[in-house]
This record gives sequence, structure tokens and C-alpha cells, in this order.
Amino acid sequence: MKHVARKRFGQNFLVSQEVISRIISAIAPQPGETVIEIGPGLGALTQPLLEHVEHLHVVEIDRDLIARLRERFTPSRLTIHEGDALKFDYGSLATCESRLRIVGNLPYNISTPLLFHLAEYADRVGDMHFMLQKEVVDRMVSAPGGREYGRLSVMLQSRFAMERLFLVPPDAFDPVPKVASAIVRMTPLPAADLSGVNRDKFAQVVAAAFGQRRKMLRNTLRDLIDPDELAVLGIRPTCRAEELSVADYVRLCNALKGVSS
Ligand code: SAM
Repeated sequence: MKHVARKRFGQNFLVSQEVISRIISAIAPQPGETVIEIGPGLGALTQPLLEHVEHLHVVEIDRDLIARLRERFTPSRLTIHEGDALKFDYGSLATCESRLRIVGNLPYNISTPLLFHLAEYADRVGDMHFMLQKEVVDRMVSAPGGREYGRLSVMLQSRFAMERLFLVPPDAFDPVPKVASAIVRMTPLPAADLSGVNRDKFAQVVAAAFGQRRKMLRNTLRDLIDPDELAVLGIRPTCRAEELSVADYVRLCNALKGVSS
């Protein structure tokens, strides 16, 4: 019986073999790697991934799909983690020998919180490849100065090198979504790049700056830093959040060390 796609789980299943092949080539999974697929659905990526690795982990929330996956794949090849990808402890699958490779055609309705959750595991990840709504990928890879540059861009780019690999048209899916999609690759930056950055403080500064993105930093960051101190850091107090680079935010955050949240 055909599975009826559930909107609440963001279900748009990949049906284009050409797109599936391009995604698998971009991931280039190798034997022995620890690969985790988020939202395997009907197995469009699961099956070809298993042609490259002897074992695969998947995280799926939909019980009907889980039942289908259990029928189709043996547990010796596929471990199904039944539950919410937003709560899953990805670190539990990391080993000393191999960093995690996380992939998936993600449910678009939870993409931002999911990306923030996944970012917490950056130190145990080799890379991540995701299909997302094109607009979200544009925000993820955006450079300072543009309308798309925001909290998501800064928070992710402070931990990952980001690449938009290619676009995927709506007709590659069933049901056909209303939006275009894109594949993004996220590769954790070397740990040294982040040395000394207090992540909570960083998140606080970025959220404060972009909370009212049209306002000047001397106003939005008023409770965190004096305008004079901004100037000492080489940051114009009249700047707006979108004009600062990720490195500027790191510098700003480090200057706030010791300030309580
Ligand atoms: N990988 C399949 C494909 O490409 O055809 C399905 C992709 S579909 C866009 C998203 C998948 O994520 C669905 O299988 C859906 O049930 C699952 N999903 C949705 N929300 C989830 C959550 N919170 N945790 C785990 N899986 C979720």
C-alpha cells in the first residue's frame, strides 16, 4: 500500500534517480565510516547509501515508515533509531576512530532548530550533507552585507565551512513541494579556530544583534558593551548586525568574557 505523505513530518519523498545519484556522489560514503541518515522515509537515500557502507544508522519519527524500513532492511545493516531527530544524541554514535557523517533530506518544518541541535556535535562530526529549502541554504551560506545574512549564517559559519553544492527542483519529489531545494555541505572548522569562544555568550551576542537587525549595534548591544569599547575593537558603533563578519562577532564575544549572562 502506498504511504500517504504526512505534512506534519515534512514528508516530500525523493523520486528523481538523477538527483539521488548526485547526492550520493557528493557524499561519497566510504566503507567503515559511521554514517547517520536523518529522516530516511521510504529509503530513497538509505538504499544507495547501503551500497557503499556495510552499516548505516537512521533516525526516523514516523512509526509507519519505521515499520516499512524494518521489513525492508535487516538490523545487521540498518540500525533504526526511532524518535525525534531534534532530541537525538548524535554524540552517542561517535567513536574515537571515526568522525560522524550525517546526511539527510531534512524535514523543512524543523530545519532551523535541527541545524542548531546538530551544531552542538561539531567536534565529533566529519561532515554533514543536507537537502533543505533553497532559501534556508542561501541564508546558511550568505556573506555579510546581504539581506540573507543573519543569525543562522553567523551561528553556523562560526563552526562550519559551508558550501551550497547544487539546486534541486520541486519535481524531484513526491509530493511536489511549493519551494525549490538545495544541497549543502557543512564541514566543521578546525577546533583551534574557535578556541576561547564561549558558545553561550556568542549565541547571546548574535541573538541580541540580529534581534532588531535594522538598529545600530550601539543600541542593540547596549546592555552588553559600551559604544567606546566597540570602537576599540574596530567595530563602528553605528554598524548594523548584518555588516559584521563572523570574525567580528568572535572578537566581540571574546571582549565580553567575564560579563555575566
Ligand atoms: N529521506 C527521504 C527521501 O529523501 O525521500 C524522506 C525525506 S522527508 C523530506 C523527511 C523525513 O524526515 C520523513 O521521513 C519524516 O518522517 C522524517 N521526520 C520528520 N520529522 C522528524 C523528526 N523530528 N525526527 C526524525 N525524523 C523526522
